[in-house]
Amino acid sequence: MRILFIILFTVCSSTLLAQQATVSNKTNTGKYVLVIHGGAGTLNKSQFTPALEAKYKSGLDSALVVGNAILEKGGTALDAVEATVKVLENNPLFNAGKGAVFTNEGINELDAAIMDGKTLAAGSIAGVRTIKNPITAARAVMEKSEHVLLSGRGAEAFAAMQGIEIVDPSYFYTPERWKGLLRAKERDSIDQLKKASQTAYNDEIDEQRRKDKYGTVGAVALDTHGNLAAATSTGGMTNKKWGRIGDAPIIGSGTYANNKTVAISCTGWGEYFLRLVMAKSISDRMEFGGQSLTLASETLVMKELPALGGDGGLIAVDKNGNIALPFCTEGMYRGFIKKERQGAAVVKDILIFK
Ligand code: ASP
Repeated sequence: MRILFIILFTVCSSTLLAQQATVSNKTNTGKYVLVIHGGAGTLNKSQFTPALEAKYKSGLDSALVVGNAILEKGGTALDAVEATVKVLENNPLFNAGKGAVFTNEGINELDAAIMDGKTLAAGSIAGVRTIKNPITAARAVMEKSEHVLLSGRGAEAFAAMQGIEIVDPSYFYTPERWKGLLRAKERDSIDQLKKASQTAYNDEIDEQRRKDKYGTVGAVALDTHGNLAAATSTGGMTNKKWGRIGDAPIIGSGTYANNKTVAISCTGWGEYFLRLVMAKSISDRMEFGGQSLTLASETLVMKELPALGGDGGLIAVDKNGNIALPFCTEGMYRGFIKKERQGAAVVKDILIFK
């Protein structure tokens, strides 16, 4: 009996030591990764001047700098993705927060989600009109309520109770997005006329519609403690009606993080991402099918998404720090910043087109 106890004790304590070694190794590596996107649908290379390109790249860069400062100091992936998305929400260039697109009624309705890969805790808000930084409200839902998804007026009341900044809906007005709504409405009425007169569907109009419609911002991160997190924020699709909600605030579709596999934030035609349960499908392929991040994400974004008729892209970082940024549109505003280990150089890249 005594011998059995000694053996058991030795086995248990060495297992414990091995586990501790794994954890502390991870804590000491200093390895971290942050990947961001600013949407995949509003791009047209021919209309892009060098000055405009520089403006977008600098907007993405400011977000990476903020997230990097958190991760470099050993901060959490969760703090990094929230802070990074907040910078993008405050930048009118991107379709989230201040740069949100208009609904058919001429208002802005915002969606956002955040997820912690360590605990699988998640928070989302949908269809809010007065919350300056929806991503912060989503985090409050995760941490300060017993719910995962709050919508509309209730979500706004909850955010106000949490002391989150509330603004007048006019804060979200930007002339660029207003013009986008007018263009979308004009195209819709041309479509009606064409359908009524049985004229062949005009591909050019369809193409322009796709370009005007989307945009979203997102961030995914792996921190130096080995934890993953994902965050997404959007104004949705231009000219949306009837309280339409896309994939961004739906956990598992537009946003997902799981320390066992991957953290993902999506952008594109939300209805298709919802139907594919995009982010969780990729995670499941990795967890249960043994697929690599590249294979799983390319299959979903480059094959299954276009096969259904949708388009868009996503950013992802897996538990080992591998990244993927697939998209099947003309471009996707994107960037990453990472460090392989303590003392290594920080590597950064920012891209827009293929
Ligand atoms: N996926 C977003 C939505 O459908 C839009 C986008 O990412 O461009 O609401």
